[in-house]
Amino acid sequence: MDENAPGLSSPLTVLKGVGPALAKTLSRLDLHRVGDLLFLLPLRYEDRTTLHRIGSVKPGMRCLVSGEVLLAETVYRGRRSLLVRISDGSGQMTLRFFYFSRQQEAQFTNGVSVSCFGDVRPGPVGLEMVHPEYRVLRKDQQPVVTDALTPVYPMTEGVQQGRLRNLVAQALTIMKKAPPAELLPAEVLNELDLPTLSAALQYLHSPPPDTDLASIETGRHPCQMRLSFEELLAHYMSLRHLRNLANQEGAQPLEAGSALQRRFIDSLPYTLTGAQNRVIAEIGADLQEPHPMMRLIQGDVGSGKTVVAAAACAQAVAGGVQAAVMAPTELLAEQHWSSFCGWFKDLGIELAWLSGSQKKSQRQTSLEAISSGQANIVIGTHALFQEGVEFSNLALVVIDEQHRFGVHQRVALRDKGASGKVHPHQLVMTATPIPRTLAMAAYADLDTSIIDELPPGRQPVTTIALPDTRRAEVIGRVRDACSDGQQAYWVCPLIDESEVLDYQAAEASYQMLTESLASLRVGMVHGRMKNSARDKVMRAFKCGEIDVLVATTVIEVGVDVPNASLMIIENSERMGLSQLHQLRGRVGRGAEQSHCVMLYKQPLGQLAKSRLGVLRETNDGFVVAQRDLELRGPGELLGTKQTGLPDYRIANLVRDADLMPAVQKAAEVIHLSHAKSEYHIVSRWLGHAHHYGKV
Ligand code: ADP
Ligand code: MG
Repeated sequence: MDENAPGLSSPLTVLKGVGPALAKTLSRLDLHRVGDLLFLLPLRYEDRTTLHRIGSVKPGMRCLVSGEVLLAETVYRGRRSLLVRISDGSGQMTLRFFYFSRQQEAQFTNGVSVSCFGDVRPGPVGLEMVHPEYRVLRKDQQPVVTDALTPVYPMTEGVQQGRLRNLVAQALTIMKKAPPAELLPAEVLNELDLPTLSAALQYLHSPPPDTDLASIETGRHPCQMRLSFEELLAHYMSLRHLRNLANQEGAQPLEAGSALQRRFIDSLPYTLTGAQNRVIAEIGADLQEPHPMMRLIQGDVGSGKTVVAAAACAQAVAGGVQAAVMAPTELLAEQHWSSFCGWFKDLGIELAWLSGSQKKSQRQTSLEAISSGQANIVIGTHALFQEGVEFSNLALVVIDEQHRFGVHQRVALRDKGASGKVHPHQLVMTATPIPRTLAMAAYADLDTSIIDELPPGRQPVTTIALPDTRRAEVIGRVRDACSDGQQAYWVCPLIDESEVLDYQAAEASYQMLTESLASLRVGMVHGRMKNSARDKVMRAFKCGEIDVLVATTVIEVGVDVPNASLMIIENSERMGLSQLHQLRGRVGRGAEQSHCVMLYKQPLGQLAKSRLGVLRETNDGFVVAQRDLELRGPGELLGTKQTGLPDYRIANLVRDADLMPAVQKAAEVIHLSHAKSEYHIVSRWLGHAHHYGKV
């Protein structure tokens, strides 16, 4: 083979027609090498493999026809248009142009042959094509019929469709001579019945005429699955690699079942649930290891994760080291602070508080207690890991509501807490349950514990859906409940993620409720407020100085106001299942029977109807998460912000989550017996810079 022949890793400039300028444009689309073109998959395909007879085409078809021009005229009826009537002997058709040049007008002389590709639709006189792609044929020239379907690539600014097709075709020719390395072992491909990488790429860029396009449209054609599979595998392996690296790092082993931990558990005003005890034991076993724990606690809202975290902290303190508990907002941090103070003050454990808004002198006192080792447990916000914070011997980091963090932040935090070769143990908690298959993809670098049991005596929240024409009734109910000493949340929708509109919606409801509930104290929080102002209102609601809290969906995940027993959600038809479940989880925390009212705008679409139905049927976050995954059609992406999931090029986790068990299995096979491929698979999909999550 010619050593100097262009290959898939050659720069794009080896292709005909690619100069420095085009190469630069393409690089902005993240296309740098010949092989990169092959991973840019077509959005759809056009069928120019058959020349259709005009007499046999039907409206709605998108197809290739040809014919002789019978008549061409420019008309001014309503809008200036060029009409060209053609015939192929079997029937006639009109080509209609609204934008055309003089040159085009002159092209269509009677008797000239043209071939056209476009959408067939009914017109005033028979069938027509509006602005078809067309070609004027020379005498005796036949229309071009292709052997394969024509790919249509995603719109790419500055590069025309035809040009892109041409470049990909050149890349395919190069691939035929020098195919990409097949990185999946034959046993994996065989078991899953998937094609090789080069066969899949060849097929998807140039599918044969008999291709089942409907199957490609679902994104689940075996050739697409072949690519999605490898991409999911690459991400999975990079996370597993992080996990394996942690196993090589050192950590302070902490003995489980200390007297201190037992005293803490015995002093609680309730007994722990079976699930809480099980998870405390799982954490206990991890902490005894000389390698850092990397564990995730998944538990539904209200399942009692905080006390489990506190038990882990007690184990650290008993081992003579420090623990840090970090919450995403001041309010949540404060909530933990007051719980921890209640639990630990009498046990002789020293706590320190650290937050961004703290006074300088207080901060100084905290910093000293932290660096001297006098403070056993430190609680706070991100401020915990800022410059200038020096721990004396930090051995456990607890991160609450971790779904706001991605893997990179997890890694950064661990590294910040490290001293020399010793890393802290890491415990992350999330209140957004996700189905098992998704968790495999999102949290492959973590071991998972699940708290799947609520504390006893909780009354399930009753949930109803009402059209918003019955808003007045609902307001009446809020008035009655709040006059009785209860509290209510009134949540307004997030509109297009726009904070301005968001704010206007909340503002309008706030006005409306202050007027109609004149005897009550109404407060408001929204996304445009400063954190400090927002926390102030939340605090007032928490201690009962506000009866009705109007909020956009910014209201904090994890806020615990047991006296609030009513949750009203406006425009619930616009919200996702998980989000609605999270909102509902803000009530049902106290002794009172709680209610959730989902107001919706009529008419209710089928999907929204199913969503609200799920919430009426179940209070279980894991069931909600699973149904959420099922109800989202393929193509509808999970918010990556919510889950910390990466963006994929080809795979779609909602659509392809079912591949995860096989991905996991293949990763093991490769790790054990094809270790070298691991590096290459990750590099192919994540690039060298992103290698193994270290950015
Ligand atoms: P989440 O898992 O949503 O973070 P929390 O830790 O805030 O839940 O706990 C919710 C409420 O349940 C708190 O008021 C807490 O004191 C209470 N709780 C936790 N565990 C138990 C238990 N075993 N029995 C009774 N109440 C409990
Ligand atoms: Mg919590």
